[in-house]
Amino acid sequence: MADGDRIVIVGAGVGGLRAAEHLREIGFDGELVLVGDEPRRPYHRPMVSKQLVMGAARPADVTLSAYHDLDVHWRLGTRATHLDTLERVVHLPGGESLWYDGLVIATGVYPRHLPGSPRYDPRVRVLRTVDDALAVRRCLAASNKPAVIIGSGLIGNEFAASMRYLGRDVTLVGHARAPLHRFGERVANSVVALHNEHRAKLAMKSEVRHWISTKETVGLHLTNNQLLVASVVVLAIGSVPQVDWLRGSGLDISDGVLCEPTLFAEGADDVVVVGDMARWPNLRFDDKPRRVEHWINAVESARAGVENLMAGRSSARPFTPLPRAWSTLYDVRLQTAGIPSLGEDTVGLADGVTGFVRGGRLVGVCSWDKPRAMLDWTAELERRLPAPEFVPADAPTTAVPIQPDPAVLQDPWLASVAG
Ligand SMILES: Cc1cc2nc3c(=O)[nH]c(=O)nc-3n(C[C@H](O)[C@H](O)[C@H](O)COP(=O)(O)OP(=O)(O)OC[C@H]3O[C@@H](n4cnc5c(N)ncnc54)[C@H](O)[C@@H]3O)c2cc1C
Repeated sequence: MADGDRIVIVGAGVGGLRAAEHLREIGFDGELVLVGDEPRRPYHRPMVSKQLVMGAARPADVTLSAYHDLDVHWRLGTRATHLDTLERVVHLPGGESLWYDGLVIATGVYPRHLPGSPRYDPRVRVLRTVDDALAVRRCLAASNKPAVIIGSGLIGNEFAASMRYLGRDVTLVGHARAPLHRFGERVANSVVALHNEHRAKLAMKSEVRHWISTKETVGLHLTNNQLLVASVVVLAIGSVPQVDWLRGSGLDISDGVLCEPTLFAEGADDVVVVGDMARWPNLRFDDKPRRVEHWINAVESARAGVENLMAGRSSARPFTPLPRAWSTLYDVRLQTAGIPSLGEDTVGLADGVTGFVRGGRLVGVCSWDKPRAMLDWTAELERRLPAPEFVPADAPTTAVPIQPDPAVLQDPWLASVAG
């Protein structure tokens, strides 16, 4: 990429913003265009299910600052409709086309819809944008009936906690055995205890059998035979990458955009993918491409992606982060490092800290309100899972697969901490 070139960034979330910022930081002097379909400047999306939905922050409070002069041409409220990688053109509504020398794809994910739910009832909502949070607040203001959240992942649990802060009755419905059970038994038990303490209701191992919308409320008949009546129902059952505009582009969009270890879209010389959309092999773990839907990953991948775009595909470096994430439930901070979902077994590492083990190796750590211990365990994980040496992209890359080890705790260090 040379000065005087034009780089187009599609997606004006944190990934898109940090990509633009870092391009200027590393001296890109050409034209920068940032296309985003939301009407507002990039903002702190994690606050949508916490401070924004609680009314503790206003939309103006959550806008992200740039730490460098962006000198960017903003195209907000504009949805990219199609990508032509051969002509190097992003198509916009109204027949407009935007040529590029380099392209950054940062279009993130959107919430999955629940089949059978009354899609056009304004009281049945998802929670992704500032406008979603404002719409939920309007429903809460219109009726003092309870709130219901369907989905027991991070956003579902955060929403339940936010409702209790507002003093609203809330029920969290999930088909899992316990909320956040993917972070292990210890975390799941702690979440249940915390919700009990705050009198948030749980309806686990259940689903919605029937929806009954009336003028005043939304009714839900659950498979456990409970009948819930709600002022608002929020669906938080996972997300889907925003790939519609990439159909027919030639990119592999089977789950996000398939990338090389360097975040270049597979087979493309001038397209990098960052944030929730990138499915790339993180060679620190193995050579299987995966997506990561966390804030810090969006920031770090944006920086790494544009450095590689500027360096060119043949000199690009693999992106090998140690993923880190957090969530806040009531006043408790849940933190993760590594990829806990890769674990086949869990081990208690310290008070409030769970390790996730695969083939005798620690692959992830999760802490429950232990931020100091988490710092130490993240550093330890980093030592135990070093990033492989840099291999130029035009030489054959060798992944470092996790070797199966029959005795999970044979590693004397793991055995000692587990003991
Ligand atoms: C409610 C909520 C709470 C969260 N809380 C946490 C948390 O506590 N901790 C944590 O680590 N992570 C959290 N996350 C995840 C984190 O916010 C995401 O990982 C991060 O925002 C991803 O950044 P991104 O830039 O890849 O995508 P996004 O932030 O989703 O931005 C993508 C942007 O591109 C736009 N777009 C999509 N298609 C097009 C198109 N065709 N043309 C133009 N624009 C388009 C989208 O509308 C969006 O504005 C949360 C997410 C949500 C939804």
